[in-house]
Amino acid sequence: MALIVQKFGGTSVGNPERIKNVARKVIQEKLAGNQVVVVVSAMSGQTDQLIGLCKQMSDNPSKREMDMMVSTGEQVTIALLAIGLIDLGHDAISYNGWQVGIRTTDEYSKAKILDIDTKRIRESLDEGKVVVVAGFQGIDHKGNITTLGRGGSDTTAVAVAAALRADRCDIYTDVDGVYTADPRVVPDAKRLDKISHDEMLELASMGSKVLHDRSVIFAMKYNVPLRVVSSFDDGPGTLIVKESSEMEDVLISGIAKKDNEVRVNIAGIPDKPGVASSIFKKLADANINVNMIIQSVGFEGESQISFTVINTDLDEAKKVMETLQAELGAKNVSYDADISIVSVVGVGMKVYSGVAAAVFDELAKNSINIEMISTSEIKISVVIRKNLAEKTVQALHKRFFLNA
Ligand code: ASP
Ligand code: MG
Repeated sequence: MALIVQKFGGTSVGNPERIKNVARKVIQEKLAGNQVVVVVSAMSGQTDQLIGLCKQMSDNPSKREMDMMVSTGEQVTIALLAIGLIDLGHDAISYNGWQVGIRTTDEYSKAKILDIDTKRIRESLDEGKVVVVAGFQGIDHKGNITTLGRGGSDTTAVAVAAALRADRCDIYTDVDGVYTADPRVVPDAKRLDKISHDEMLELASMGSKVLHDRSVIFAMKYNVPLRVVSSFDDGPGTLIVKESSEMEDVLISGIAKKDNEVRVNIAGIPDKPGVASSIFKKLADANINVNMIIQSVGFEGESQISFTVINTDLDEAKKVMETLQAELGAKNVSYDADISIVSVVGVGMKVYSGVAAAVFDELAKNSINIEMISTSEIKISVVIRKNLAEKTVQALHKRFFLNA
């Protein structure tokens, strides 16, 4: 008997009719002779609505209470799905994150899963039940409810699959797989049959919304066979797998864009050892994740550093930067939210040269100014004006996928 973890996103559970459709998909797996654990998101739009309610109470709502609030969205869907399954004659039971021991760090709104106590899930599976688990939420060491960051239900699913050593984790969503670019931006984007963990991780961290980035980290670390499939039709989807050498034959796997980062620039700081360390230590202590970092070459004893943070961390980051400006005697700190980051990702870059040159050439031809550049072994990212982001993705997609 195989153990399958299925995850259904917000659109897939968007209304009672759709939840009934999910119940039928779950039953199919069960009738095929499998044990099934289902992880669900809140109904689409629900999390935004709950956040909106909190913001009506305060401009700066308590993070603990925000997590208390937004975690309720998933509680609604687990109950509805369990009710639907039972109604169709299949025994099922729903659990909140804390009821099945999903222990996390205490970073509200972006907690990380530490471990999962699978005892209760196993017991219910052994009783022949379908187990329905709330995505996106957990509990910290003090018993507070935490959430994993937007889109975090994917991570719950993969972490549950890893903890249970499941045979497969299927992520059901409103698209039928991972595409070479967001099909809403690039209509002729193509579905990928498979993609490596590393590429998927880069794409997910750089703005592709198909999978939550931490879910890919779990899949990679614990070797969970992961598949992205559509809730609405029966296509093969995309497999996320270990890298193999034939993958390097494909130069580029995908292009992603990220619109929710803000650039922070601190100028006129002393050009001496320890300055970068003091800046990024303070940001890390405040649990602020930094994405791109660029330091310019020092000149006359001064230097400047630019980096990007996610916009939901901006208020927090501003507080840290104020203290730092005073401490370092920095001349100026500025913020720019009008940027996007566009990234080109592919393991083929490890063996083929000239990808960076082609990216820059294409942007030059389109008169798109590059404001920051960063690279990894399998990725090239550029910061550009936000209003040029779609055009940039379209141009690069054409360059790498259509003229190839
Ligand atoms: N409901 C949460 C969100 O909207 C988590 C998820 O959908 O994965 O971000
Ligand atoms: Mg999602």
